[in-house]
Amino acid sequence: MTIVNEDYLDERLGQLENIAGWSPRTLSRFETFIRTSEDYPLFKINPLEYARDKHIKEKEACDLFLHASRLGLFDIQWGLVCPMCGDTVESFASLRKVETHFHCTICELDTVATLDDFIMISFVVSPRVRSIVFHHPEQLNILDYWQHYRFNRQWRHKGGSSITSLFTTGLRALQGVAAGAQEDISVALSAGFLKIFNFADERIFTLPVAASAEAQSSTLTLNYEQQATLSSSPSVVEGQVQLHITNHTTKALSLAIAHVSADDLAQEIEIEPFFTAKQLLNSQTFRNLFSSEVILATEGIGIKDVTLLFTDLKGSTAMYDRIGDLQAFALVRQHFESLTKVIGLNNGAIVKTIGDAVMATFLTPLDGVNAALHMLREIDDFNALRGSPDLVLKIGLHHGAAIAVTLNDRLDYFGQTVNIAARVQGLADEDEIYITKEVFDAEGVKEALVDFEVLAEQSMLKGISEAVSVYKVRV
Ligand SMILES: [Zn+2]
Repeated sequence: MTIVNEDYLDERLGQLENIAGWSPRTLSRFETFIRTSEDYPLFKINPLEYARDKHIKEKEACDLFLHASRLGLFDIQWGLVCPMCGDTVESFASLRKVETHFHCTICELDTVATLDDFIMISFVVSPRVRSIVFHHPEQLNILDYWQHYRFNRQWRHKGGSSITSLFTTGLRALQGVAAGAQEDISVALSAGFLKIFNFADERIFTLPVAASAEAQSSTLTLNYEQQATLSSSPSVVEGQVQLHITNHTTKALSLAIAHVSADDLAQEIEIEPFFTAKQLLNSQTFRNLFSSEVILATEGIGIKDVTLLFTDLKGSTAMYDRIGDLQAFALVRQHFESLTKVIGLNNGAIVKTIGDAVMATFLTPLDGVNAALHMLREIDDFNALRGSPDLVLKIGLHHGAAIAVTLNDRLDYFGQTVNIAARVQGLADEDEIYITKEVFDAEGVKEALVDFEVLAEQSMLKGISEAVSVYKVRV
């Protein structure tokens, strides 16, 4: 039976309502979702999938769950997910706990997660709102635990079912074997592969099952030791298979015996889009609401591709001199407000301001370029309104790999990509945007610049040993 903490839910939904800008019926659907969903849909919520289901924009869905988490309706989960099988190898309640090196025992695969992939952000309903079985993984039966708690439904056979469905279609038997004990078990197998998975230590054994013209029976021996071996002589053929399992270890085995067809194994895996840590860190809402989230990993977390935009005001010292501190400061503040709005409208987030300069990130180079063009239009309008060209904005963009770290209590980005972006900004003059070749060549950028004069240049940038290919965009 579903028990909802009514007072708590009402109060928090009321606070959510006070945050302006939700599209019609978003909150009433959200309330229904919390109240009436089965337990599993309230666990590992992928906001991108939620957006699709409820026909709202992805950004709104992400903002909805971030605000709801800030208000205590949901909790954010950080999961390190194996790229091969989709198992959540580790999960964390906070960014500060995330380590990026992980090992999948099932695939015997070491992975270094980056913010771009394999760090999955999802949401789970808070136990203060509604208790679901997934708050107590230790109480789940072993199949539910693996199929739903550990594995992720975003891993699918190309064009087909989620690979977690193998848990139900392929399973032949569950068998416990006490320490030092021996068990015999008989299973019917067709051609393909036999997989024996020990839930206790997460080791998996695979043996081919040969096709056969007539039904046969074969015998298989599994000696489970520190270095466990699975042996069969002659090889296993389809039909009834007798399994002799001896547990030589001091711990009980908890085995799943499953059949996987050659077709299943050969199928390409595709991963449905999920909310990545990169998207999360690029969310202004996350940065505003969870500013205390920090990366503790000393080496930071890598990001394979981030678009960085730097702006600065030209001649601001002269402007302070000309129109006085108070007026100049008011202008600079208005310019910050205007840039903040434009960055938000173009799917970006402000990392920091340094004096009169702004550093922002975007998910794609095209978003960054659109933001830059939009910024210059805003500044032009602003100057026209004042009847005086006091504000001159210089903009530069670059994209590439970087490292996300926390410095001075701020989630920041470091590396050569950041240095180049900052230097490229320094090349720009009035009504100019400087972008690197990497930005110019990115999807959609040439088309976005088709109405502007674009000049290619080679530029030596301070602190960068080789000349950098840049483009000057005259607006
Ligand atoms: Zn794996």
